[in-house]
Amino acid sequence: MSKTIIISNRLPLQISIENDHLEVTPSVGGLATGLKSFHKDGDSVWIGWPGLTEEEIPEKLKGEVQKKAKDENCVAVNLSSDEIDGFYYGFSNRTVWPLFHYFMEYTEADDTYWKFYKQVNQKYADEILKYYEEGDVIWVHDYQLLLVPNMVREKAPEAVIGFFNHIPFPSYEVFRTLPWRDEVLEGVLGADLIGFHTYDYERHFLSSVSRILRYQVDFNEITLPDRIVKVDSFPMGIDYKKFEQAALDHFKNTEDQQSELQRRLNHHLESTPDAKLILSIDRLDYTKGIALRIRAFEYFLDKYPEFIEKVRLVMLAVPSRSNVPQYRRLKREVDELVGRINGKFSTVSWTPIWYFYRSMPFENLIDLYTSCGIALLTPIRDGMNLVAKEYIATRTNHTGVLILSEMAGAAHEMNEALIINPNNFEQVAQALCTAFGMPEEEQIQRNKMLQKRLRRYSVEKWANDFMKALHATRENRDAFK
Ligand code: UDP
Repeated sequence: MSKTIIISNRLPLQISIENDHLEVTPSVGGLATGLKSFHKDGDSVWIGWPGLTEEEIPEKLKGEVQKKAKDENCVAVNLSSDEIDGFYYGFSNRTVWPLFHYFMEYTEADDTYWKFYKQVNQKYADEILKYYEEGDVIWVHDYQLLLVPNMVREKAPEAVIGFFNHIPFPSYEVFRTLPWRDEVLEGVLGADLIGFHTYDYERHFLSSVSRILRYQVDFNEITLPDRIVKVDSFPMGIDYKKFEQAALDHFKNTEDQQSELQRRLNHHLESTPDAKLILSIDRLDYTKGIALRIRAFEYFLDKYPEFIEKVRLVMLAVPSRSNVPQYRRLKREVDELVGRINGKFSTVSWTPIWYFYRSMPFENLIDLYTSCGIALLTPIRDGMNLVAKEYIATRTNHTGVLILSEMAGAAHEMNEALIINPNNFEQVAQALCTAFGMPEEEQIQRNKMLQKRLRRYSVEKWANDFMKALHATRENRDAFK
């Protein structure tokens, strides 16, 4: 029987070592939910890094890691700390990530990083080939593994391979600056089907292929000497029911079942009934426009002082990649900005920004989503932005206003939100005024449309659509022969 082989940088599980003992908890991220029906079926496997380096796992527990992974239908790829530094913190996060998000000045072109990137991609490909049997379908995920499709193709020319890029694909003019642009494109083109979140990313990829490699591109098909590669857009959704149900359950909680955070949020909402909480949630990443957002909020309060004591920005910044220097600099910048703006506008009974630098458990995310009447999500560049979708899914009484950057992939599917350019402070300030004064009927009307769409295009549908298109490439191939 044919099986599905899924490959992503990280496995959908968390491994930790507690008192010489291995703890494994499956993680329930969006990708794992979407792929559940393919991954749990038959002898399908998910190949990826378990999150601990070879040096971090004691010798006597090494076999145990593989065994525990196997219990979850997973295979752990062993990576050394040097490999993680060069491949993950190096090439993936200091070269591909900034370049693909248009941060050219942050993009490092380092031969050592590239060497590790190739080496680790080969490790993943070799692991796939150990499990691959003719008839299987292989699905490779994301920018850390751009070379894997072709590495597998070289050894298994008949394999059916899909690749999905979860981040933007930049315009040709930006992509062309990458020293290894040919190798990267050839790497991805090992796939039969290449998926992006939006049509724009797809277009950028096709134009890079046609201008750099000079392959023939017709609509969304690329003709290679021996095969055809199909490129398409599949906007990723969320586990809509999970967020909706969590919000419904949340409202059933009695006061003593509520979290400490919810009690504080309630206190604020009850003591100032005409005030609104503005939500902001992201990983602390320079692509998310966090510093820009705080400055836009300052501009708004300067220009419209009548909102002092009427709004509060509740900002959750999740620590991320803190061993990359730009992330550490951003952390300092955000700390300073929050301090300065709170110092500038605070009154005895009010601070404009509540700032949390941590990750929050799911229940607290639901507290925030359901308590904030406005969400202000203003990335400078973002492949999709799932937070925007999650916010709308939790608004079970259909109120709430989403202000969303046009630079987020999600903006393409969320026209009923207030779409802004995050660099235009005047526009952000106007959107905040509009959101604050938006009649409830209008909020409900907009959110109902958004909810209908998000419910339909769930993460399960995303995975199913991609898999269906991937299976269809098999027939295409027969026609090409
Ligand atoms: N999230 C989380 N813990 C937190 C804050 C956020 O798990 O403390 C989740 C959030 O629910 C969302 C994801 O992190 O599913 C962020 O996805 P998004 O596409 O918005 O941004 P990314 O971090 O992938 O760039």
